[in-house]
Amino acid sequence: MEYALAILISAVAMTLIVGGRYLLTSGFFAWLTDRVRPGQYDSLKPQIGREIRWSLLSAAIYGVPAGIVAWGWQNAGWTRIYTDLNIYPLWYLPLSLFLYLFFHDTWFYWTHRLFHRPQCFKVAHAVHHDSRPPTAWAAMSFHPVEAMSGAIVIPALVVAIPIHVGILGLVFLVMTIMGVSNHMGWEMFPRWLVQGRLGQWLITATHHEKHHESYRGNYGLYFRFWDKVCGTDIGLADLGGSFGASARSKRVRE
Ligand SMILES: [Zn+2]
Ligand SMILES: [Zn+2]
Repeated sequence: MEYALAILISAVAMTLIVGGRYLLTSGFFAWLTDRVRPGQYDSLKPQIGREIRWSLLSAAIYGVPAGIVAWGWQNAGWTRIYTDLNIYPLWYLPLSLFLYLFFHDTWFYWTHRLFHRPQCFKVAHAVHHDSRPPTAWAAMSFHPVEAMSGAIVIPALVVAIPIHVGILGLVFLVMTIMGVSNHMGWEMFPRWLVQGRLGQWLITATHHEKHHESYRGNYGLYFRFWDKVCGTDIGLADLGGSFGASARSKRVRE
């Protein structure tokens, strides 16, 4: 009983943290969008309301497993999260960051492809694609089934793969910033990066926007690796260079 209450408190606290993190990050990037591309979201207000409601529901679905695992980390040694930098060599820090992002990306790519099968799409993924075009508030706008598939990834990884608590924080930072910025409708990274050699392998807003335009292809989360290997990479959308006027903002204003 005592354990159940502690786990419940941890799950509620984590839900509030995930929801608060969403509101702060999406709110910040929506504010930035208003400065960089004034008027881009003006015609999308009813859609933004829906995006926020679905996202807050997702926050609870993400928060519960995260809260349970956080309790298990602190009280029962369930996870392989470590705090002493001397346990593993220092080169393992960047490797563990890469492993977490790669496995998260792999899970996302294959489940995302599954969600695009017609029956699955209707049930679980249409909610996310109801954002036409998506905004910074759409980062966690998922149907509960899709949110559940996303919510188990990091809890599963922390049980399986050792990670320093600081690197885990970095994973969350990358996850949060890319999740929001990939939907906000303009490219914040410089053209030389997006269209250069590194951009061939990294997913930013220009790549994910193309997924929302076409529905088919560009299923990845952080890397273009699986899209390239499986022949589903359909290239980049036309969002203009960073901070420049874009095809989309002109479209939205029309
Ligand atoms: Zn999306
Ligand atoms: Zn999709």
